[in-house]
Amino acid sequence: MKNLIMTPGPTHISKSVRDELSRQNTNPDLDFGFFEEYKSTCELVKKIGNTKNEVFIMNAEAILGLESACASLIEEGDKVLCIDNGIFGEGFGDFAKMYGGQVTYYKDRYDKSIDIEGLEECIRKNGPFKLATLVHCETPSGIVNDIEKIVKVLNRENIISVVDAVSSFAGEEIEISKWGIDVLIAGSQKCISAPSGSTIMIMSDDSLEMIKNRKTPVRGFYANLKNWIGWYEKKEFPYTQSDNQIYALKKALENIIDENGYRQRHEKIAQALRTSVKVCGLELYPSDDYSNTVTAIKVPEGIEFSRLFAKMKDDHNILIGGSLGSLKDKVFRIGNMGENAYVENMDATLEALDSVLMESGVKLSSSLRREFELNIKG
Ligand SMILES: *Cc1c(COP(=O)(O)O)cnc(C)c1O
Repeated sequence: MKNLIMTPGPTHISKSVRDELSRQNTNPDLDFGFFEEYKSTCELVKKIGNTKNEVFIMNAEAILGLESACASLIEEGDKVLCIDNGIFGEGFGDFAKMYGGQVTYYKDRYDKSIDIEGLEECIRKNGPFKLATLVHCETPSGIVNDIEKIVKVLNRENIISVVDAVSSFAGEEIEISKWGIDVLIAGSQKCISAPSGSTIMIMSDDSLEMIKNRKTPVRGFYANLKNWIGWYEKKEFPYTQSDNQIYALKKALENIIDENGYRQRHEKIAQALRTSVKVCGLELYPSDDYSNTVTAIKVPEGIEFSRLFAKMKDDHNILIGGSLGSLKDKVFRIGNMGENAYVENMDATLEALDSVLMESGVKLSSSLRREFELNIKG
């Protein structure tokens, strides 16, 4: 039986990407050929993000990106707006505080996207702010925020935007330059379907200027983005890069561009999945503003999440996601992102769900798999 990782990251990695991990390695500090490969990887990131902004790719999971943005941009006492309608949104505020930020939270409902008028009012009352943190796709709840509209408000108020797009980059529409996003953070192991362990930072000139013009030194070394400025010209990385991981990331990015319709595939699969869930009588967690990369479904009456998870894994060899914080045990998630988001993987997952739910006495009005199939062919 095929082992399916249908979680919202890490996701499946295709063979062509995995093969890059076994390529002959080099000394990435001394082999200038590696600098060229790294640079071309950055160019692919820019293409997918629709921008010419600076790109840094750091060796570590995407949490390093959230932390290094805060460490490098915030100085003691700076006013930071933390836009919070989910678990990652709220958590961003902790990093801001750790590095001396004076944080104001704009708190909104956790089951829908950020309300723009509410946000504007919060800024009027509590501003001015130097910087704002926000999340594009709230992975634990399956919601996408309208970052185009939010960033428009932030830019009008001269607030530097720091966007966590870890679980949306490549799977949802993102126009970094057109929308004027200052700092965008992406990760390798979600929609990009590369090995976990790379953080992608996409930085505007304004954000780089802010880092260069700091009055106080950045606390710490690993999270200090100042160390990355000019890496190509100096032919020097702040620390040794993991060359094979970069090769794998590069291959995954090439695959995305070559597919020509990567994002549209996400949209199609996600829509069919949502329709199937609703038709069968299950309930989606978000009330609106659904993510096309992760689908959050309420755990139905009659089964506990721990049992659902275990049956899917033990009987069908399929990993599904639970959720975190206040949604723990209330919501289960399917990561319909990257290499996961193919009809055959969804078919197998929904067939298994049909069977586990039926065995547990949960009544569905139809078969999840059949409704998905009907919709995708639609
Ligand atoms: C996955 C993810 C991260 C990285 O978090 P990990 O817990 O290390 O996987 C950050 N932000 C968002 C929105 C994510 O989905």
